[in-house]
Parts: sequence; structure tokens; C-alpha cells
Amino acid sequence: MTERKKLVAGNWKMNGSRASANEIRAMIEGAEALRDRVEMAICPPAVLAGLAGELLSGAALGLGGQDCHAERAGAFTGDISAEMWADVGARYVLVGHSERRTAHGETSDMVNAKASAVLRAGLQPVICLGESLSERKAGATLSVISDQLERSTPIPDETAGIVIAYEPVWAIGTGLTPTLDQVAEAHGRLREALCDRLGDRGRGVRILYGGSVKPDNAAVLMSTPNVDGALVGGASLKAADFLAIARASVGL
Ligand code: PEP
Repeated sequence: MTERKKLVAGNWKMNGSRASANEIRAMIEGAEALRDRVEMAICPPAVLAGLAGELLSGAALGLGGQDCHAERAGAFTGDISAEMWADVGARYVLVGHSERRTAHGETSDMVNAKASAVLRAGLQPVICLGESLSERKAGATLSVISDQLERSTPIPDETAGIVIAYEPVWAIGTGLTPTLDQVAEAHGRLREALCDRLGDRGRGVRILYGGSVKPDNAAVLMSTPNVDGALVGGASLKAADFLAIARASVGL
């Protein structure tokens, strides 16, 4: 069986300030005890990347970006390239979060180009996808997420790592979560689609679950087949909650 080390990543969205350094220090301390068991990362807002990158240097807690531009550099006001994320010490960049797909009109083709840029910079793209509530109600979940996977995911070379985050849009920030059967069904379909696309290498790709993961539901969600970690929004802002989720993800 392919071993996939769990990854628990925190998406801070547009939250945090320089005062968050204390919370980051507490996360670093807690992550150290989990170093061998689970991979952990936080994705703070870009303005905190320099501060976070310095604090996280050498830590068991990695740094991630929340988005990037597909180009390396140039006249793209307000944008940040994957190479810039690498420069401040990031290991991951989220691409295609539903808030960006919805509020910034990002298509799966754009997400694919961004994910390729992240690979080009030597980092791991965390490619987010998931169905809306109306798609779930229409019974279209599996076809929607398979299509998003196909269009949003570049084929990486042998050595590069990609990560998929399945995030039902209706579960993000709402306190709602799918049933465990629904999670298992979606992750199982994504695993099949990854293996169709990448052959045996598809078994090594981590598929995170995201959407209202909290300390009290993390253990059951993380023990569902093909769930290889979590992308955590609100509960990643407090070290105590984020660390509790990371511990629960590996049954501690
Ligand atoms: C997210 O934004 O990726 C997310 C999963 O948010 P929350 O955990 O707050 O639902």
C-alpha cells in the first residue's frame, strides 16, 4: 500500500496581522512534537509572508501562499509569482480556492496554469476544487469534481508533488460538513481520476479534505479512506485548535 504522510494546512485567508507572530510561535512549538507524524503548513496573507518565512525557517511548520500569478515576473500590479513565494521560503501554494474561483472569476484553465507555475518554482501546488450546493443537490458532484480535476491539474514530472484539496463550497465557513460516506465517495472518485491521469503515481498524491474542519470532527474525517489531511480555514487561526486538528489527523 502507498504511504501518504498526512498534510494539515491552514488557510488564514484575509486574517491576521504582525501580532499573529505569537500564534505562529505557539504553532511552531506544537508542530515540533508532530514532526515525524504529520506535515503541517500555514498560508498567511502575503503581507505577512516575510515575517512568517523568518519565523518558520527550519521549523516543522511549513509556509504556503494563498494564490499566485502564472507568470514569473512582470507588469502585473498586485500579483505575486510562485518564484516570489519560493524566495520567502514557501513550500506550497494554494491554487483555485473556491473564493478565488467565485470572487475573481478563476477558471480551471487558469488554475492549471497557476499550478504549473508552482511546480516550475519547485513548490507543491495545493489544487482546490469542489461542488456548489446546487451541483450537490442536482446529483452532479462526482462529474463536477472529476471535470475540475481533469482541467485544473497539470501532469507533473516524476519528482514533483501535487496535492488536491476537495472542498465542497457549501461546507466552507458554514459549519456544515458532508457525511463520511459523501467524503469517502468524493475522495474515492478523485483517487480514480488521479490514477487514470497519472497511472500508479496517482496513488501517491495526497487528497486533503476542506470545509468546516474543527478539533471535534477532525479525527473521523481524517480516518475516512483516501483522506490524506485537511485544508483548514477558520480553525487554523488559533494555535490550540490548529494543533488539535493536526494531532487528531494522526489519531493522537
Ligand atoms: C477553506 O477556506 O479552505 C476552509 C476550509 O475554510 P473553513 O475551514 O473555515 O470552512
